[in-house]
Amino acid sequence: MKVFLLMLAAATMLFAQGEKIRVIAFGAHPDDCDIRASGTAALFAKMGYPVRFVSVTNGDAGHQTMNGPELAARRLAEAKESARRLGIDYVVLNNHDGELLPTLDVREQVIRQIRAWNADIVLAPRPNDYHPDHRYTGVLVQDAAYMVVVPAVTPDVTPLRKNPLFLYYEDRFQRPNPFRPDIAVRIDDVVDKKIDALDAHVSQFYEWLPWVDGRLEEVPKDHVLRKEWLKKERTHAPSPAVRAALVKWYGSEVGNATKYYEAFEICEYGAQPDEARIRQLFPMLHH
Ligand SMILES: [Zn+2]
Repeated sequence: MKVFLLMLAAATMLFAQGEKIRVIAFGAHPDDCDIRASGTAALFAKMGYPVRFVSVTNGDAGHQTMNGPELAARRLAEAKESARRLGIDYVVLNNHDGELLPTLDVREQVIRQIRAWNADIVLAPRPNDYHPDHRYTGVLVQDAAYMVVVPAVTPDVTPLRKNPLFLYYEDRFQRPNPFRPDIAVRIDDVVDKKIDALDAHVSQFYEWLPWVDGRLEEVPKDHVLRKEWLKKERTHAPSPAVRAALVKWYGSEVGNATKYYEAFEICEYGAQPDEARIRQLFPMLHH
């Protein structure tokens, strides 16, 4: 019995080593995935695993002086540059920014993306958020969960045989329930790559978002200085719950020493992996 179990464990390990985990992340706008998951994406990419970011809208409303096709083109170029820096793939769907609704048409666009990518892991925002596009992106991805395996739904694309693992990004919203960090990924080794990815979205991090906050004057003009400013703006210390998750996944020494992280909550509508399976899907989680 013991020998059999050992053989089984060895076979599982071999399977895990040969398995190419495929990751797809959804955001409402061409910078949302970058904010929440580009460190984790960089780690997957470094291991040779394919990652795709999908922006469900084209971002054509996110600027104080530009809009429409001109802004959409600028943001597409920024997204492609971010993807180049991360070593991943980036798709921008042509739905208008600020007008996203959870329609059947957009749900089918999301189902097609998940199926075409043959995803094992799907990342998305939670459906509670200040921005309606973010909320509906969360709803759209939830609505695609399970439907991705149903052959009669969106029959022009081959259905998946297994429901992927669906994960939510970290956010600060407390109602109806606060974010729960089921998985916390240490990104200390790639945090500068993450900031490089964000830095590609010039129209957002150096123009639009500081303008909305009335802080445009604070953005340094110098390229090096503004990247340092961006790093301070876009990284923060882990909450006690995230720290506990880091210790769970990496052990107390590494978990307590970790400075930079990204955290995810498991959605109830997809695959429900046990701890061993989560470690196969996220091979960067190790003691
Ligand atoms: Zn957004």
